[in-house]
Amino acid sequence: MTNAYKIAVLPGDAIGPEIMAQALRVFDVVRQHRDVEFELIECPFGASAYFSHGQAFPEETKVVCDQVDAILKGPVGLSHAESLKIPVEEQAERGAILPLRARYNTFANFRPIFLSKDMAHFSPLKPEIIRDGIDILLIRELVGGLYFGAKERGTNDAGLRYVKETLEYDEAQIRQVQRVAFEQAQLRKKRLHNIHKSNVLLSSVLWNEVLEEVRVDYPDVEVVHLLVDAAATALCLNPGQFDVMVMENMFGDILSDQGGGILGSLGLMPSACIGPDKAYYEPSHGSAPDIAGQNIANPYSMIGSVAMMLEMSFAMADESRAVWDAMRSVFEAGYSTADLSAGGSAKVVSTDEFGDRVMARLDELLAN
Ligand code: NAD
Repeated sequence: MTNAYKIAVLPGDAIGPEIMAQALRVFDVVRQHRDVEFELIECPFGASAYFSHGQAFPEETKVVCDQVDAILKGPVGLSHAESLKIPVEEQAERGAILPLRARYNTFANFRPIFLSKDMAHFSPLKPEIIRDGIDILLIRELVGGLYFGAKERGTNDAGLRYVKETLEYDEAQIRQVQRVAFEQAQLRKKRLHNIHKSNVLLSSVLWNEVLEEVRVDYPDVEVVHLLVDAAATALCLNPGQFDVMVMENMFGDILSDQGGGILGSLGLMPSACIGPDKAYYEPSHGSAPDIAGQNIANPYSMIGSVAMMLEMSFAMADESRAVWDAMRSVFEAGYSTADLSAGGSAKVVSTDEFGDRVMARLDELLAN
């Protein structure tokens, strides 16, 4: 029987539609070689949806997302100046991304920070630091903490404007994401870096207490505790020490972008956002308004998000592997997008041409 999957496609803003167009080609290639059907339903989401529908996450998009098997989301948002044209509550993160995460309780965000040996020259780090490449799985808690806590703005008794934001976690929220991280560590090198700030934050004290309870069920996993500030330095000086890392929401937001930095570009950062019943997939980066409309964005992060969807939502591990291999073969053949070309000898290709080369190789790989 043919497997059939429904996917909500949210192209997003700025470079979103450009890189999404390349990512969607993967579904065409896969369906040509496998007994599988993909129904793609495009929906408005983000700043463009605010301008066309008056809401960054319109009702019609919610209805589709509720029904599908998985969601593929492009980056959303505008430049700082353009964002000011949208009411604060409808700006992309507050109006679209956070409500999407909350709606499907996508508490576990998988952010692979990966650079094969053949791609090591893209990194700004020295070869003696990179050695055999970088292979880290950063797991970020995605629906709690400061980003989701109660917020308040006002003027205090002294007549000064003030703001109050709340960092709140309960032990169940902490436990569920830590379990995911331990399970991933078991599947990989059995080493888990726990990133926290318990020397200052009470939330990290509870986080660490829960971790001590959870680890009892994973005796084969070595736990290494590291303060988040020290982790930022260690990512630059010795990324090879990391395998799986787990951390709360805001730490993960910031450290994963640093992950893109040590790879050489945020364009190399796909991600998966996993909830109990639904998952959505998106690049880790934003909508890159500075390069929008020029056909120069790197679609690796968006195509990689499809690869993660194939594996994690549709159990198509072989096809997923073929997508990764196809992308790496393009780099290995000496091509790169503009973001990765600084100081190197790579032949620079456009967003579309990178997609052409990936799809041609994917076609070959799936035919064999
Ligand atoms: P950004 O991640 O969009 O861009 C940072 C830098 O990385 C820019 O120089 C950009 O050109 C580059 N870059 C990012 N992705 C790239 C790619 N695929 N190929 C080549 N270069 C790439 O961060 P920003 O400029 O701070 O934010 C822009 C907008 O994106 C803002 O409105 C922000 O709120 C939003 N944002 C959205 C998400 C999301 O949709 N999940 C995440 C982060 C930021």
